[in-house]
Amino acid sequence: MNNIKIKAYGKINLSLDVLGRRENGYHDVSMIMQTVDLYDIITLTSIKDCSEIRLKSDTDSIPLDSGNIAYKAARLIKEEYKIDDGVEIHIEKHIPVAAGMGGGSADAAAVLRGMDKLFGLNIGTERLEELGLRLGADVPFLISGGTALAEGVGERLKRLPAPPPCTVLLVKPGVSVSTKEVYEDFDSLAEAVHPDTRGLSELMGNIGLREMALLLGNVLEGVTLRKHKIIEEIKKDLIENGAVFSMMTGSGPTVFGLFETEEQAERAAGYFEGTKGIELVKAVGWLVAE
Ligand code: ATP
Repeated sequence: MNNIKIKAYGKINLSLDVLGRRENGYHDVSMIMQTVDLYDIITLTSIKDCSEIRLKSDTDSIPLDSGNIAYKAARLIKEEYKIDDGVEIHIEKHIPVAAGMGGGSADAAAVLRGMDKLFGLNIGTERLEELGLRLGADVPFLISGGTALAEGVGERLKRLPAPPPCTVLLVKPGVSVSTKEVYEDFDSLAEAVHPDTRGLSELMGNIGLREMALLLGNVLEGVTLRKHKIIEEIKKDLIENGAVFSMMTGSGPTVFGLFETEEQAERAAGYFEGTKGIELVKAVGWLVAE
């Protein structure tokens, strides 16, 4: 095999709590992560006569050199498993960049899985997750995706039942948010509203959409919201357009609304499409673990 195509699914956080900060700057978190049906397409092609890693993409909104986390993932596998062949990585980008949807981490996870298959390494999920953690805190979860409680810095994973069926409307405003800055601002915050992530994780699989909605929360939402009022407006507009619940994902700025039917979500999408300041509107479903 010299060519492989892999879907790199993005995620949203149904719950995101920050429990503390470690000396190395990493944060202890407690999160419920969920992959959604929005993905980048990663194509890996092995190159026989050189050992280079080449990176191509249909967008120039991401680094196309060794600064790209997908490049780092390929380099890690080449080094750990002593692979002499080169590899070309092509990223077809659909997950919005720096949006709180883990786009870079998803690409890295897909490259780890893809390199494993392409070179017949049989690495195994647990080891892939360990390697993923060296690249970023969200990468271990995105190796298999689905629904999971993630603790530690994101590496302690517990698989959970999928949330109740619904349609998720993703709405991304055209503002830039730096994950690093959001965490720094959070550290200097006196008070924060902490969601009961553990409590929700224990109920998953036994609650309906409306009950689940009462328990969702993102401790970082208030931090990003203070700087970008448009997030508050999108949240409100989603509810006014029929969403059962709306919340920011990750460090933002993407907001998601949960709708009982696809028709309602599509109608609300119509409201946001073409609205000033909105960069992406997309109705998607949950994605179960691979
Ligand atoms: P998270 O939710 O994990 O914080 P995010 O969705 O907010 O992630 P990404 O889309 O992963 O953010 O991008 C964060 C930064 O990483 C961007 O500034 C981008 O330039 C850089 N980056 C490096 N490699 C990639 C990649 N393959 N895809 C997207 N961004 C990448």
